[in-house]
Amino acid sequence: MNKKRIRTRYAPSPTGYLHIGGARSALFGYLFAKKNNGDFVVRTEDTDISRNVKDGENSQIKNLIWLGIIPDESALNPNPKYKTYRQSEKLERYDFLINEMIEKGDAYYAYDTKEELEEQHKYFEEQGVASFRYKRNWLKISEKEKEKRHNSKEYSIRIALKKNNWYSWKDIVRGKISINTDDIGDFVIRKQDGYPTYNFAVVVDDYDMEMTHVFRGEEHISNTPKQLAIYDSFGWEAPEFGHLTIITNMDGKKLSKRDLETKQFIEQYKGEGYYSHAIFNFLTLLGWTHPQAKEVMEKKEIIDSFDPKRLSKSSSKFNMDKMNWFSKEYIQNMEYSNLKKFINLNINKEEEWKKIFIETFKKGSVTFKELEKKLNIYKNPLKGKKTFNEVVKKFSQILSNKEWTIENIQESINETKIITGVKGKKLFMPIRLATTFEEHGPELHKAIWLFGKEIIMDRLNV
Ligand code: GLU
Repeated sequence: MNKKRIRTRYAPSPTGYLHIGGARSALFGYLFAKKNNGDFVVRTEDTDISRNVKDGENSQIKNLIWLGIIPDESALNPNPKYKTYRQSEKLERYDFLINEMIEKGDAYYAYDTKEELEEQHKYFEEQGVASFRYKRNWLKISEKEKEKRHNSKEYSIRIALKKNNWYSWKDIVRGKISINTDDIGDFVIRKQDGYPTYNFAVVVDDYDMEMTHVFRGEEHISNTPKQLAIYDSFGWEAPEFGHLTIITNMDGKKLSKRDLETKQFIEQYKGEGYYSHAIFNFLTLLGWTHPQAKEVMEKKEIIDSFDPKRLSKSSSKFNMDKMNWFSKEYIQNMEYSNLKKFINLNINKEEEWKKIFIETFKKGSVTFKELEKKLNIYKNPLKGKKTFNEVVKKFSQILSNKEWTIENIQESINETKIITGVKGKKLFMPIRLATTFEEHGPELHKAIWLFGKEIIMDRLNV
């Protein structure tokens, strides 16, 4: 038998930038495809026109590529076989299939106005029904009124679900899940504005693009039986589904995009100079474990050892310290030849100097930018030395003409400040080092006084 080529996909709505949660769904789809020598596809769900942001699609794809989750196909590198990777360019195809469903009695026009729908909602609430289920025979309007609404396109189209029918699947993460259609209710497949709903379009796309496995967040579990009903109507074979558990913050609450304390967008990490593979590695362990509990792994090792059976059934905590630990770990173990590609060593020095600088400072840096900043102290060292000498010289001159009292020492510091124009750390550090030979200490004038005049003048005159 001819084995099907494994194909997975990530299908973001271009309503914003790539989020940690989205990146992780994409990553597991990618790992599964690569492990099985298959294709990983990015598809754009852009039918909610009002919510689309300019550049959303482009930035989603670019951020994935930056992370190392490289699509084999996307709107930016399409495979002509699958025509388009944007839902907004497939409206005719959806309409064609929706009409087919209407013709065979699997879908129908629903003429309810917004107010009439609200009334139905209210009725069910009053009956104590937990979640709303649309009743197709609820609306009582004349045939004439129906025709009027039909002609002015005031309708949505709903699926006609089979009554008391079970839809089941063997979830890759959670095992068997079954949901009865009586707990769902006829849902909309085409909105009044003419656009298909997510649940309809996603099925058509997954079928058209020959997807074999779908990895997505657990918030989609309740959508899966709806999608299975559509596969059922067309007699199409459904892909396998795996619903990933949620990502929480350290308090165990679901990550919310409004929670500004956690950096949640890949763009932020990129901007701050994180090493992309450190994030890739970290995300892999956000809901998956290596059989030997290995943590730091190159991409090939992750792909080779990826087994969806090891996807976690409980939620994963997003631990920023752990993320930073990964980044530090990678940076400090990186060879100079590699590390220098990520750092702007903008200083007029020999290669050997730069190498020693990197080797000396790479330990402990969380980001490339952090390491780069450490270069600053070497950028203007001469000016610093001049200031240092000048401060110490002036201070010893002033002090040597005064009687040895705590007040006079303080005054000498003040006068040095006025004469040299140097203040703050650049004033205190040279004086403190030259007199106490310590970098830190208590109130400077008292610390100096305690040594006595002889020792201090001896130190200052060297
Ligand atoms: N656009 C949907 C989302 O971002 C895709 C869900 C799916 O993968 O089916 O959640």
